[in-house]
Amino acid sequence: MSKLLIVGTVAFDAIETPFGKTDKILGGSAPFIALSASKLGVDSAIVSIVGGDFPEDHLALFEENNINISAIEVIPDEKTFFWSGRYHNDMNTRDTITTDLNVLTKFNPIVPKEFQEASVVVLGNLSPGDQSKVIDQMTNNSALIILDTMNYWMNNTLDELLRVLKRVDVITINDEEARQLTGESSLVVAARKIHEMGPEFVVIKKGEHGALLFNDKNVFFAPALPLEEVFDPTGAGDTFAGGFAGYLTKTNDFSFENMKRAVVYGSAMASFCVEKFGPERMLNLNSKELFNRLQAFKTLTQFEIELTS
Ligand code: AMP
Repeated sequence: MSKLLIVGTVAFDAIETPFGKTDKILGGSAPFIALSASKLGVDSAIVSIVGGDFPEDHLALFEENNINISAIEVIPDEKTFFWSGRYHNDMNTRDTITTDLNVLTKFNPIVPKEFQEASVVVLGNLSPGDQSKVIDQMTNNSALIILDTMNYWMNNTLDELLRVLKRVDVITINDEEARQLTGESSLVVAARKIHEMGPEFVVIKKGEHGALLFNDKNVFFAPALPLEEVFDPTGAGDTFAGGFAGYLTKTNDFSFENMKRAVVYGSAMASFCVEKFGPERMLNLNSKELFNRLQAFKTLTQFEIELTS
């Protein structure tokens, strides 16, 4: 069976939206990616680090969802990575209030032996130096390497980020970050410039406005499902990446045509994530609900038209 390796932060998040506020809840890029991919039944593992303050029951939750946690290192005297953010009324933009790296500064990712041959790797949002160390340990040269990043790493470790970008096949990045990385306002030009930095495939996430997939010749667009209520968008980008990567792992086909389907799976997963705070909605998502939502995506985007020239 194909395997999916995920590296990223495992965090505490404190979130404020126009609808409410949380204390420290489970967050971080890796849980969103892994829980989303787990809904597609793939064999996955998380490589990450937490402090002694990280609850056992959060770790148990990963295991209950068939996510291998043998490479989540626990450092008893340290504190878990902490992030807090506040959303604006449009729910599409947010301010980061705190990023406390804490235990993350001690991180030395070690890929478990049985996952060094994984067919898909997601380098979730994390320091580009650590993302690079994971690629170094992979023994499967044809593994599809997918990288996600954010403005924090562009602001603080741009050179390292540019180095790791040369080694990856796919980047998933949001629209504002794509503009920041390239200095271009047009997303089409930004995608071309990012492609020139290394990744063969560029996925630009546009929040409630969907996602674009580019390679050097083609472009594909999938909308986000129009939802009546968006409760908390935290982790939607990572959940997208998890659905995208999970689908590619399961189908083991890395063509542009199949990536289009993976974008739709990613978008469907993300549409669930935003319905509750943190990863809560992903925990009780069943396959029937996923099927119905994929069906809704099909209905939303299919149309018949007779063209006369
Ligand atoms: P998203 O909404 O998809 O951008 O993901 C938000 C998640 O990313 C939150 O759960 C945070 O804990 C995590 N996060 C925030 N800042 C960083 C960072 N600088 N590096 C890695 N993960 C982060």
